[in-house]
Amino acid sequence: MTVTTPATALSGTDTVLSPATGAVAGEVHWTDPSDVEAIAAGLRSAQREWERRGAKGRAKAMARYAVWLGEHRDEIERLLIAETGKSSTDAAQEVPLLIMILSYVIKVMDKAMAPETRPAALPMMAIKKISVHYRPRPVVGVIAPWNYPVANALMDAIGALAAGCAVLLKPSEQTPLTAELLREGWQASGGPDVFAVVQGAREVAEAVIDSSDYVQFTGSSGTGRKVAERAARRLVPYSLELGGKDPMIVCEDADIDLAAHAAVWGAMFNAGQTCVSVERVYVLDAVYDKFVAAVVRDVEALQMGTGEGKHFGALISDQQLAITERHVKEAVAAGARALTGGERAPGTGSFYPPTVLVGVDHSMACMTEETFGPTLPIMKVASVDEAIRLANDSPYGLSASVFSRDISRAKDIAVQLDCGAVNINDVISNLMCTTAPMGGWKTSGIGARFGGVDGIRKFCRQEAIVAPRTNVGAGGNYYHNSLKALARMNGLMTRMALARPRRTAK
Ligand code: NAD
Repeated sequence: MTVTTPATALSGTDTVLSPATGAVAGEVHWTDPSDVEAIAAGLRSAQREWERRGAKGRAKAMARYAVWLGEHRDEIERLLIAETGKSSTDAAQEVPLLIMILSYVIKVMDKAMAPETRPAALPMMAIKKISVHYRPRPVVGVIAPWNYPVANALMDAIGALAAGCAVLLKPSEQTPLTAELLREGWQASGGPDVFAVVQGAREVAEAVIDSSDYVQFTGSSGTGRKVAERAARRLVPYSLELGGKDPMIVCEDADIDLAAHAAVWGAMFNAGQTCVSVERVYVLDAVYDKFVAAVVRDVEALQMGTGEGKHFGALISDQQLAITERHVKEAVAAGARALTGGERAPGTGSFYPPTVLVGVDHSMACMTEETFGPTLPIMKVASVDEAIRLANDSPYGLSASVFSRDISRAKDIAVQLDCGAVNINDVISNLMCTTAPMGGWKTSGIGARFGGVDGIRKFCRQEAIVAPRTNVGAGGNYYHNSLKALARMNGLMTRMALARPRRTAK
């Protein structure tokens, strides 16, 4: 692609090139930032009918879209590989994830959107019938990164569409093509005009924030901060899914082969360009040598490339590769050893070989900054307490993993880790458990995606409707009542409200 820097103003049309082969992947027409407001206005007017369809009506359209995704999986994956340089193994995971999310959302959206009745807080308020209604925020702006251009484009948009919102998607300027195909699919499967795609970098993203009623952002922590500041100008709510530096802890009673397989896949999957990839490992002294040997054995069997049967492909750009190169070079200069890889792969394309680093510590960027590349730094620790302390010694808190044959011990470790999710004897699998929230702590995010019905309701405003059950007792504090009656009522309310504190305080 001719332009990849987020800060650069993009205009006209550009050719997108594969970072693996340099082949033409397609053409993108950049949106003029000044057009975004009108596009959002179009979505806003189409959204009213979408909301009026109700959850059951929307579920039909979303089901048809899921079927379209299933039928066009090969076409989507081909384009995905062309614009990202991913291996086909990695590309093959995105569409199925979306279909699974759609399938679950179709099942629960009617319940998620149904008004809820709430009990009275105090017996005397039982004269009121209380209900809470979930009303969609009309336009949800989705700003997405490049690492999973298909999955990240839609995994949150699905919840927003289910809620009855319209979606204004801005994919990464580095991977603009698959988003267009996903939008075409929405239209081809009969979806109404409540899903639009705008193309561009920072300026277009800012226009999306300025034109939306909710911002769903996935990207780096630095950009996330800017999104929060911009959204705050209009007091527009947002959810930020940001970067991570996920630790893995391997206890002395772990299944070492399993832990090694998981560490290698978790670190190298998608060339390490996964927010929840394994970015650092802490291994108990007693099993350190065995674990490192198993990891090296697994890594040496990996094949890099984009073709069939390859394990992982190119990094998205030379800029991304440069970060990996810097982390490895600096670590080696400071005394670490690269047991595999360690140098950019020769030849065409931004390929970096899987690199296992040992002799690392927290003075090195490879253990503290997000690498987002195919590296696996492994550190020996003397105790589980030391592993926990080091795992928490990070500005990030996205997720983590713990390996031990003793599940209750692993759970005990998990609840001492400061992050949004912990996988026990597995990695990344929480992403498939969409009834649980996926969100980052610290600089890894604000808010969460998924979480069962919460993944739909987060795109709604709550509207409380309070109706009379009976007119008796209503308006006791209105002006036309006597001050004496008001004093009696306040006294009665205070006595009733004090009953529980008095009982509890005993
Ligand atoms: P990025 O922050 O550079 O860009 C993300 C998006 O923000 C792009 O669409 C970009 O055009 C847009 N953008 C750029 N400047 C902006 C601004 N000033 N205001 C608003 N939007 C702006 O991130 P990236 O390099 O595309 O993606 C990689 C990062 O995403 C990594 O840090 C990774 O950990 C994170 N990520 C997090 C999750 C998660 O669920 N937590 C998932 C995937 C990726």
